[in-house]
Amino acid sequence: MSKTCLICKEPTNQLSICETCAHELLLARNSYTYPLAYLRLSKTGEGIPGFFTTSMQLDKYHSSLLRSKNPNDIFLGLSSVVFWGYFIFGEAYSLNRTKWLQSGRDGQSGLVALGKRKLIHIVGSATQHIVNGRIDLGIKEISNIQELGQISFSSKITSFIEPKSCGIYDKVIHDQFKLMAPNQGGVTRPKANKYMDYCQYLKSIAIELNKGINLGYPWKWTDKNSSSYNWRTIDTERAIYSNR
Ligand SMILES: [Zn+2]
Repeated sequence: MSKTCLICKEPTNQLSICETCAHELLLARNSYTYPLAYLRLSKTGEGIPGFFTTSMQLDKYHSSLLRSKNPNDIFLGLSSVVFWGYFIFGEAYSLNRTKWLQSGRDGQSGLVALGKRKLIHIVGSATQHIVNGRIDLGIKEISNIQELGQISFSSKITSFIEPKSCGIYDKVIHDQFKLMAPNQGGVTRPKANKYMDYCQYLKSIAIELNKGINLGYPWKWTDKNSSSYNWRTIDTERAIYSNR
């Protein structure tokens, strides 16, 4: 039974990814250089910037905070993801955006005004939806938080909640995929559905790469400390991001 490559659509043999596309993704994932910036809290509750050495450290840090039942952890997790997301525009700018998330701006209320109960409810129910395979409902729930109302940022939160199943859809990805406006128009139901389809496409590529690894292809991606891993949905997205 012949198959076609999910990326280039050329005919393939065993897998739905060809060796050329697999190799290109591997090189791109291995050269992903986005800063591994995060925020932690000082004893007095101030956000202090830090840097991880590996992608896996960053992902585990954010995932465990966002999946926590403690509202303070969730507050820090959302703040740290926003800080990370804006970090390429500089630390000062990024800290400022984090402050907007926390305290609001232009009459919009931030996380502090939202309150701990609501915060736990939103992030907790988003996580539940995502774990149940309803990524569309999950991203819609996250977009109820001011400053996370666009796909570009709500998808950063879903991706750190569940890197196995979700990837980010931002301007860099949009320039290649052209599925929906990532930074305007909010997270409507059609956009939430498109986002879920996009994640499933990324995941199907990750699955094929992992099948290839099982067949003996040297396709594990390598983190900054030289440890190598099977592919998650977020790794496919990072490869595509890196390959712009
Ligand atoms: Zn291909």
